[in-house]
Amino acid sequence: MHLKQETACQRDTHLRNVERLVEQIAQSDAILVGAAAGMSAACGFDFFYHNDAMFQKYLGEFGAKYSYVGAFNGFYYRYPSREARWAFLARMGYMEYECPTGRPYYDLMELLQGRNYHIMTTNQDFQFTRVTPEEKLSAIQGDSRYFQCSRRCHDEIFYNRDMIYAMNDAIDENLCIPTELIPRCPRCGGELEPWVRGYTFLEGQKYRDEYRKINEFLQANKDRKILFLELGVGRMTPMFIQEPFWNLTDTLPRAFYITINPKDALLPQELAGKGLAIREDIATVLSDAVKLAAGEEIDHD
Ligand SMILES: [Zn+2]
Repeated sequence: MHLKQETACQRDTHLRNVERLVEQIAQSDAILVGAAAGMSAACGFDFFYHNDAMFQKYLGEFGAKYSYVGAFNGFYYRYPSREARWAFLARMGYMEYECPTGRPYYDLMELLQGRNYHIMTTNQDFQFTRVTPEEKLSAIQGDSRYFQCSRRCHDEIFYNRDMIYAMNDAIDENLCIPTELIPRCPRCGGELEPWVRGYTFLEGQKYRDEYRKINEFLQANKDRKILFLELGVGRMTPMFIQEPFWNLTDTLPRAFYITINPKDALLPQELAGKGLAIREDIATVLSDAVKLAAGEEIDHD
């Protein structure tokens, strides 16, 4: 990341922020990471909201045919048929399976290496599953690797990789899949749905299990020096990560809170002595923190 335009003052702030981050990680007995959409954006992936290179590569023909911007709008678009909708879902799922893991994920894991940590995320793109074991990870808004019954007739969710790849292979020139490939619930025959937050989101066994992991981590570490590290949480849904992090930092005697966000880094006044807001690019801060922790020079030229 090149920061040639920065002023000396910004550079001082940047160095101080990175130093404090590295220091807090080193001093903590436990670290709970909360990561949201800004973490994916920091990887250079913006296909949910814009027709970026990744969108063009995988979903460009859908965007051109239906005139929408970003995969998010593609997800909620009212397609002319089930077969057309499933073609989109298959291609989007395929894109997420094929998407490379972003550099900031590796940098974060390097900073957490050997530490007592847990990660919670509202991201559904399962990037974290490539870099950390599932027992240290809680996906609290669903995970696109799974389908659920759209009627929620039972509690099971279905690993979908083979279904996604088979449907994607079968997309025809009209951007539809064959009717018989539309995935169906083995119990009730209803259509399956991606297991992601929405009107029919199934809060079953797997969902409860994700929260069980977080609660066990908090129970075990609440009286120790615990760091709440928030990455890329926007202002749209503060109730899942940000507000719980603020409340816990306020309540737990030895807690500290750090948020890294290029736009929305906020520190409530009540946490003035127990927190730090880093209003900077997540990728740059994490990569410089890795360098600093390894005793290397931070150099932007
Ligand atoms: Zn069903």
